[in-house]
Amino acid sequence: MTSTDAAPTAPAAQTFTSLDPATGAVVGTHPIHTAADVQAAVATARKQSEWWQALGFEGRKKALVRWRKVIARRMEELAALMARETGKPDGDALMETALAVDHLSWAASHAEKVLKRRSVSPGLLMVNQAASVEYRPLGVVGVIGPWNYPVFTPMGSIAYALAAGNAVVFKPSEYTPGVGEWLAETFREAVGRPVLQVVTGYGETGAALTAAGVDKVAFTGSTATGKRVMASCAETLTPVVIEAGGKDALIVAEDADVAEAAEAALWGAVANAGQTCAGVERVYVHDRVYDQFLDELVAQAKQLEARPGGQVGPITMPSQVDIIRRHVDDALARGGRALVGGPVPEGARFVQPTVLVDVPEDSAAVQEETFGPTVTVSRVRTMDEAIERANGTRYALGSTVFSKEHGMEIAQRLRAGMTAINGVISFAGIPTLPFGGVGDSGFGRIHGPDGLREFTYPHAIARQRFKPAIALTTFRRTAKEEKQLTKVVRGLYGRGKN
Ligand code: NDP
Repeated sequence: MTSTDAAPTAPAAQTFTSLDPATGAVVGTHPIHTAADVQAAVATARKQSEWWQALGFEGRKKALVRWRKVIARRMEELAALMARETGKPDGDALMETALAVDHLSWAASHAEKVLKRRSVSPGLLMVNQAASVEYRPLGVVGVIGPWNYPVFTPMGSIAYALAAGNAVVFKPSEYTPGVGEWLAETFREAVGRPVLQVVTGYGETGAALTAAGVDKVAFTGSTATGKRVMASCAETLTPVVIEAGGKDALIVAEDADVAEAAEAALWGAVANAGQTCAGVERVYVHDRVYDQFLDELVAQAKQLEARPGGQVGPITMPSQVDIIRRHVDDALARGGRALVGGPVPEGARFVQPTVLVDVPEDSAAVQEETFGPTVTVSRVRTMDEAIERANGTRYALGSTVFSKEHGMEIAQRLRAGMTAINGVISFAGIPTLPFGGVGDSGFGRIHGPDGLREFTYPHAIARQRFKPAIALTTFRRTAKEEKQLTKVVRGLYGRGKN
C-alpha cells in the first residue's frame, strides 16, 4: 500500500529492503504487510471497485488514458528504478516499459468493444428469444507478480483487470517492491483514488492475498508456488490465472535464414540474463544447417559479456545462480560440452552466456526451467524429430520456428500457448494476442480480448420476444408438441449419410 492509501489499519511495523543485484546496494525500504494489512487493502479495493464500475467503460477509459500518459511521460524514471531493482540494462527496462504502456493503451481502448453486451444467435429451437451476453467485472483482483519483468508481466494482468472494471491489489516480488509502489502511486496521481493498491513483503504477504477474499488471483512465478497459490485459492473457490514459466524451444529448419535464427536464439536465450518465462532455453537444428548455425551462435555469443553496465546484467534473485549452476554442472557431467561459458563460479552475481551441446534430452538443462543465460543446442534429422523433442517437456509456454517456407506448418504442430515464426517472443508485444501456457506452464490468459475476459464473468440474458410455436419449458407442453419437436430435430440434425 502506498502511504496515501486510505487503508483502515496502521502502517506495517516491519520493513524490508530491496537491493541492487549488481552491487548489493540498498535501493529502497518497504513495509512488510501483514495478513491484516492485506485484508484492509482488499476491503478498500472492494469499496473502490463500486466507484470504478460506476464510471462505466468511457469513464474508466479516460482514467486509464490519464495513467497511461503519466507513465509514458515518466518512462525513464520507471525504467531507471526497474533497472536498479533487477539489474537489467536501462535500455531493456525502457523497452519493457514501452510494451507495458502499449498494452495498457490497448486494454483501455478495447474493453468496451470486447466486453459490452452483445446479441448472439438464439438458435433455431429458441428462435422466439433474444439472446445476449455481457462480460462483467469480478470485483477485486489480486495480482502476484514476478521480479524478472516487474512492469510488463504484472501489467498484463493489472491493466486488463482494471480496464474490465475491477479494482486491483498488487503484491510485487520482494525483489521489485519499488516498481510496484511506483505504479500504484502514479495511478493514484492520475486517477485520484486507490483503485490500484500495492502490498509489499515476502511470500507470506502473497499468501495472505490468496486468502483475503479477492474474486480472482493472477499469479506469475514458479510452478511450485503456483500450486500453493491454487491450493490456497481452492479453500474459497477463488479462480486463478497461473503463468508459471516455460522451457521454450526454438526450431531451425533447413530452409531457415541461419544467421537470423542464431541471432534470435542468442537474444531469446540471453537477453534479460535469460530470466524470461518465454525465453529460448533449447534449440533444435536440422542436420543440414547445424554446423553453420552453431558457428554463428558461438561467434555471436562470444562477443557478449555479462558485466556491470553491459548488455547482459546480473541474476536478479541470488538463489537463482545455484539453479543455473546445477543445470550446467549436470549437463557437463553427463557428456555435454560448453562451447561458450562453462561452470558458474561460486558467489557469482553475473552468469556468462553459455552455449551447451551434446546434452542428454532427459537432463535438467533440457527439462527444467533454467532461468539463466544458457541454451542447449541439439542436432535433429527431421522436423518431425524437432517437433517431438520440442513438445517433450512438461512445460508449454512459448516457442519459435525459423523456416522460410514451413513456419506455419511447424508452428501448428507445437504444443505451446504461443509461437513466433522468424522472430522471437514477438507474440508478447502484440496486444491483441493472448499470452499464457498449458501443462506446467499454467493456464488462463493475459493480453488481448481473452485477457480482458479473464477478469470478468459472462452474464447471459434470454428475453422472450414472442410466444414459441412449440413451448419447451412449461408443464402445458403436450404429447403432440413433443412429437413435433422430435420431427423438427430429426429433420434438422438427423438427415443425410453418415
Ligand atoms: P516464486 O514463484 O516463488 O515467486 C513468485 C511470486 O509469488 C513472488 O511475488 C513471490 O513473493 C510470491 N510468492 C511466494 N510464495 C508465495 C505464496 N505461498 N503465496 C503467494 N505468493 C507467493 O518464484 P521465485 O521468485 O522464487 O523464482 C523461482 C523460479 O520461478 C525461478 O527459478 C523461475 O524458474 C520461476 N519464475 C518464473 C517466472 C515467470 O515469468 N513465469 C517469473 C519468476 C520466476 P516473494 O518474491 O516476496 O517471495
